[in-house]
Amino acid sequence: MKNLEQSAVGVSGYVESLRRDRDRFVALAFCAADLLLEVNTSNEILFAAGASHSLIGKPPESLVGTLFLDLVVAEDVPLIAELLKGMVPGSRLDPIPLKLNGAKGPTVQLSLMGYHLPDLSGNQFFAIRLGTSGTRIDIPMDAVRDPLTGLLEKDAFATLASRQIREAGERGETLKLTMVQSSDFDQLRARTDTEHAESALRTMGICLQANAAGGQAAGHLDDGAFGFLHKPKLDVKRITSRVEEIFRAADPTGVGIALNTGTVDADISSLSESDSVRVLLYTVTRFCESGGKGFEMSSLSDNLKTMTRETTEKLAKFRQIAVQSKFDIAFQPIVDLDTEAIHHFEALARFGKRLDRSPYELITFAENTGVIADFDLAMAKKVLTWLKDQNSLGMMHVVAVNVSGQSIANTVFVNALHDLLYKFDAFRCQLMFEITESAKIDDLESANRFIQGLQKAGHKVCLDDFGAGAAALRYLHALEVDVVKIDGQYVRSAMDSPRNKAFLKAIAGLCHDLGITTIAEMIETDDQADMLRDAGVHFGQGYLYGKPSFDVGEFVNAPKRKRKPPVMDLTSREDGKVISQAQIKALQMSTGRPGRQPKTPQSRW
Ligand code: C2E
Ligand code: CA
Ligand code: CA
Repeated sequence: MKNLEQSAVGVSGYVESLRRDRDRFVALAFCAADLLLEVNTSNEILFAAGASHSLIGKPPESLVGTLFLDLVVAEDVPLIAELLKGMVPGSRLDPIPLKLNGAKGPTVQLSLMGYHLPDLSGNQFFAIRLGTSGTRIDIPMDAVRDPLTGLLEKDAFATLASRQIREAGERGETLKLTMVQSSDFDQLRARTDTEHAESALRTMGICLQANAAGGQAAGHLDDGAFGFLHKPKLDVKRITSRVEEIFRAADPTGVGIALNTGTVDADISSLSESDSVRVLLYTVTRFCESGGKGFEMSSLSDNLKTMTRETTEKLAKFRQIAVQSKFDIAFQPIVDLDTEAIHHFEALARFGKRLDRSPYELITFAENTGVIADFDLAMAKKVLTWLKDQNSLGMMHVVAVNVSGQSIANTVFVNALHDLLYKFDAFRCQLMFEITESAKIDDLESANRFIQGLQKAGHKVCLDDFGAGAAALRYLHALEVDVVKIDGQYVRSAMDSPRNKAFLKAIAGLCHDLGITTIAEMIETDDQADMLRDAGVHFGQGYLYGKPSFDVGEFVNAPKRKRKPPVMDLTSREDGKVISQAQIKALQMSTGRPGRQPKTPQSRW
């Protein structure tokens, strides 16, 4: 009897301790969650506890036996379905944003966390909580995405990935970056109807995103190349097989695509954001250049070493190019839009004697590495020397050189430039300056002092790549330039809609009111030229008037271009005579005033 009593006490004590354990675990689980779910391999809910009533208007018991995916809002279903497919025993799901179908439409943003317990019939355990997780990194609304896959474009991906790498580092975790590439996409598209091909690309995007760290860090890297940042234990082979399966299913021949992959350790959590973005982009570029084949880099930190070495070598080479003046100048004419007479030339840098190769990549490299000022100075010197030679041959040209917004903040550059200009005193009115990359100007006041310094020395100064954004207005307000060059993008878009044309007209009108002369660039057609003239722009540059050339003689001696006769814009003069706009401009130029007379008394052109 005593034994029985003792054992009964033992059993009830054991049950009591089990109950306490259960309550303890439930309490612990609710520390992190508002709703707990157990889901079996058929996606059916076996257990539910928590605040389902306030979240979705249903008591927890009523959820048992329903399908988990039925709770999820339609737009999140593909991602969550891919996630469920990807959860293997023992894997944990980091917080993923999702919304459920609430009583009155979609719920607010929730976070889904999960765990796949190996020894409970393969069931998955989910915790859902209100709000986004503390570690979630928000992607800006305007982050550029690839329309086909829905994945972030390269730069946005690199920025997000860099942040996630550093976040993981703070948790003591090293993520991995896997890149996948295939050259078979075009062939697959040719074999497959658009609907299936696009659906496969979208599903692949969802699959990569579902397996990416935080359900976000996946990107479109290049044509046919994609990448995602993930947990170190993720079975990459399983993901690539899944992607191949997606394309096989879409392909009527059942062949699908072959994927090349490369995985590197993202062991750069201690780098600054800009450095880690740079090494990420470098790695991605390397992977894409290799076509995904023979890619042997094993970690981002290794790549950092290679990148640093290569950058140092490239930097030394670029400095040498500047110091030894080993580059060429291509000239492009800027013409009066009414008469098409050449007003001046823009000097454009060319490297390796290649007229048709843009220097843009090297110039950007020089800006990013802080050596652009050396180059801008070298270009000014080369142009001045050229002007001197030309003058001695009896040819008086006016040339504009580009100066990066970054150079003008460099006091050594500014002083060296003035020393140089002093040496070439006689050619001051033949040298103009175009300030490029104004976005890189931090201190507008000192930039304006630089501009005024040049003007005092007798040079005209132009603000390049001018647009219609708020920043552009700020620059125009702060920088007292003589000329504004309207960005080619506005010239192109103004042809597309009356709205865009109104923007261009507004820019031209504002400059006109401020007494600033306007140039429009990238003019390729007579229609564009007519539209610009109509909008009140004074001067033009573009392939219509001449592509950059090493030889200015090509433009000076060129026969007059045959152009569509412009619509005569006739104006009545005070004396009753009728004259054309071209005649008005000729009169104004001869009195030293700009094409359209500004409201301000003095023009600086
Ligand atoms: P940018 O100053 O805006 O120069 C105009 C660019 O547009 C030039 O490209 C020119 O060749 C191109 N272009 C001109 N007309 C047309 C056209 O009708 N259609 C099209 N599609 N393109 C046209 P480029 O020579 O490749 O120069 C690219 C950029 O590199 C320049 O843009 C400028 O920002 C920079 N750059 C060039 N030389 C120098 C330099 O000596 N110093 C600095 N700081 N930057 C330079
Ligand atoms: Ca320019
Ligand atoms: Ca420009």
